[in-house]
Amino acid sequence: MAAVRRYNKWAGNPNGTPEDPEKCVAEVSDEGYGGFLLRQCSNKRGKGPDGLLCGIHARQHARRPNSLWIPENDSTDKENQ
Ligand SMILES: [Zn+2]
Repeated sequence: MAAVRRYNKWAGNPNGTPEDPEKCVAEVSDEGYGGFLLRQCSNKRGKGPDGLLCGIHARQHARRPNSLWIPENDSTDKENQ
């Protein structure tokens, strides 16, 4: 089973939101109810290293790679244990 990236993973949402394979892998923050919510970028992927980023994040990655947050593939998925 292929590992997927997971977004918005925290104590109250331990499984997070699985990666959408059509979309840019960058994790972005939205101002939500009383704080910030983390989610996968909603733009289509196709640019940047391995074609995993949208145009906006590919440019950001080229300029300042460390300013971009991309979750690791989760290979320690509890569902597989
Ligand atoms: Zn993006």
